[in-house]
Amino acid sequence: MSGGASRVGFLGLGIMGSQMASRLLAAQGPASIGVTVWNRSGGKAEPLRALGARVAATPAEVTATCDVVFAMLADPEAARAVAMVGPDSAVAGISSRASTLGPATYVDCSTVDAATGQAVGAAVLRAAMATSAGADGTRGGFLAAPVSGGWRDARDGKLLFLCGGSQSAYDAASQHGLDAMGTRRWLVGPSPGDAARAKLMLQVMMGNIVGSLAEMMALTKAAGLDEGTILEVLGESAMANPLTAAKGELMRRGEYPPNFQVYLQQKDLRLALQLADELGVPAPLTAATNGQYIRARQMGLGEADFAAVRAAYDVDAHQEKVGV
Ligand code: NAP
Repeated sequence: MSGGASRVGFLGLGIMGSQMASRLLAAQGPASIGVTVWNRSGGKAEPLRALGARVAATPAEVTATCDVVFAMLADPEAARAVAMVGPDSAVAGISSRASTLGPATYVDCSTVDAATGQAVGAAVLRAAMATSAGADGTRGGFLAAPVSGGWRDARDGKLLFLCGGSQSAYDAASQHGLDAMGTRRWLVGPSPGDAARAKLMLQVMMGNIVGSLAEMMALTKAAGLDEGTILEVLGESAMANPLTAAKGELMRRGEYPPNFQVYLQQKDLRLALQLADELGVPAPLTAATNGQYIRARQMGLGEADFAAVRAAYDVDAHQEKVGV
């Protein structure tokens, strides 16, 4: 890094990543000297290019040239593939960094399991230590930083970051991106796995709340009650919250434009159940709710907003499955 200024990179321009990268571009100032972006499929980078981003051909190109690189990828498979697999990977780029550039910090914001966070973190550190650019213990390294908040929060710089890793990586990530993209951040532990597990706690809550809302809405309909009235009462009650207000309205209308998709919420419940299994903690509610998200995926709703789990609670959905 030169004079405290930083070249910032962003990998993964989906619903969240595109907004986060836009936010980084808008926040460019004395601490930043440009944003370089990459996405697996073409097209998604073009709006960022129009805003002034440089578009790279591979993740390796980003990590070879940028000082702090953020990733926002779908799931553990995507996070591992982009970071670790092949000559175009982020780790390959770190290995090829010119010594004059100094060490890079890789910040993975994807929601993954602890093992993936630890594997990616270890690979990044190995690559950094093998180069003359290095990771000298006070600069560079790896941070897991999954987020709470949706694309509107990302657009407005209001994300919450749950971080796991070294203090030096946390400081670099905060100065060169987290504080532009979010309002609060927590260093929950020294390991990437700490952040991964912390994020899954929130996803257990969110998946179950929306699953429970879907169950209530299906019962409301089957009982011949007015869904709007029940939602209105819910909104005035001690159970009111912004999540059920927004998702209840989507369920009432039966419209599910993707915000946080079914396939991602189901992935999060799957990872949470794996963790519960490892820890020997029973999670019966989460197991049952996960089945409903799986059903929604089987119904072709994987890319709809996760409120579409509502469809899996319809009697017809079950009849169709058993051919009744
Ligand atoms: P999304 O719109 O589906 O975007 C997924 C991104 O991952 C895309 O850039 C996609 O590239 C990339 N990707 C998937 N598989 C890949 C692979 N094998 N190799 C390379 N790239 C791959 O998802 P999102 O909503 O932005 O979510 C991203 C992450 O944030 C997830 O971990 C999610 O759980 C978490 N999250 C989401 C929200 C939300 O409200 N949406 C909130 C908090 C956290 P292509 O464009 O080429 O498919």
